[in-house]
Amino acid sequence: MLIWSAVRMDLRDIGEFGLIDRIRKWMAASDSALIQGIGDDVAVIEIGGKALLVTTDILIEDIHFERSWMDPYRLGKKALTVNLSDIAAMGGTPKYFLISMGLPKNLPLSFISSLYRGLKEGARRFRVDLIGGDTSLSQKIVINICLLGEGKKQDLVFRKGAKAGNDLFVSGTLGDAALGLKILQEEGGMQGPRGLIEKHLSPCPRIQLGQTIAQRHWATAMIDVSDGLLIDTSHLIEESGVGVRIWEDRIPLSRLYRKWIHSYSKDPYQIALCGGEDYELLFTAPPEMRRKILSISLPLKTPITHIGKILPKKAGVHIVRHHGKEYSPSRLGFEHFK
Ligand code: ADP
Ligand code: MG
Repeated sequence: MLIWSAVRMDLRDIGEFGLIDRIRKWMAASDSALIQGIGDDVAVIEIGGKALLVTTDILIEDIHFERSWMDPYRLGKKALTVNLSDIAAMGGTPKYFLISMGLPKNLPLSFISSLYRGLKEGARRFRVDLIGGDTSLSQKIVINICLLGEGKKQDLVFRKGAKAGNDLFVSGTLGDAALGLKILQEEGGMQGPRGLIEKHLSPCPRIQLGQTIAQRHWATAMIDVSDGLLIDTSHLIEESGVGVRIWEDRIPLSRLYRKWIHSYSKDPYQIALCGGEDYELLFTAPPEMRRKILSISLPLKTPITHIGKILPKKAGVHIVRHHGKEYSPSRLGFEHFK
């Protein structure tokens, strides 16, 4: 009976994260140099006393972007940013990358040259070098980057490590990128508030903030917000074996988000809680670090907000609504295949 239901199951039944859990069990790794395998923002390998960081992310046409509203220059920059953000979430330094592309044969050469101009701009700004890749024919545009970085083993911040009583912080503002995407999809082009649309098309990785937090040993756990606040918080607490309480009215919202959200959603917090692609950093730290953490906000020109508290044991995600009522959300955010 059990075997038959497993045979009939497809990816919709288990979702992206159910699939990754299974892959993690099938492929359990045991090499002694491996500090972190599947289950964090980057893989960490110890080599000659240093930590080598490795991460990979894919962007697929009509899944992650549409050619009608994503220009090739921004696409190139974003393909690098989504990987840089994972190195930021570890507190590491990005160094080298490889890019593999699937491309349709009628794609203009000017599209590729603009894409590489965007990549070059990102590479220059974050001091990384392209060292290789692969190129193939494909029906749609597929871009996969593998980014290598380095760090000191004792400085790195993992998803695991959050302790009961820790504060939960987030950088920047949340929901802008997801609201920008909703506007792009509903208005069908470049209409609407530029600031929100730009946050979706041209996010910025928080490399300097990640490094500062890691080098000063303030945080106990960290992740970047790529899939959405709730789902990424749930990854952090699951890896740490704890729970979390988040106060909805503390979630940092931008002026533009506050201005436009009412035209696109009945619930002003829904998109900030569940929308993805802000590429902000979410991290936990003991309460005695709070003052120091908040004090770097000004010099780094990056808002940092205390939005929640870590709960003991595997208590799950609890949200205190703006009117004071607490609930545990059943749907946390976007997940491929679901
Ligand atoms: P992120 O959102 O930070 O990119 P993901 O949620 O994509 O992280 O991945 C979570 C973990 O699962 C990471 O350690 C990643 O390397 C790993 N992972 C994702 N997809 C696969 C796969 N197909 N095979 C092996 N590991 C995977
Ligand atoms: Mg990540």
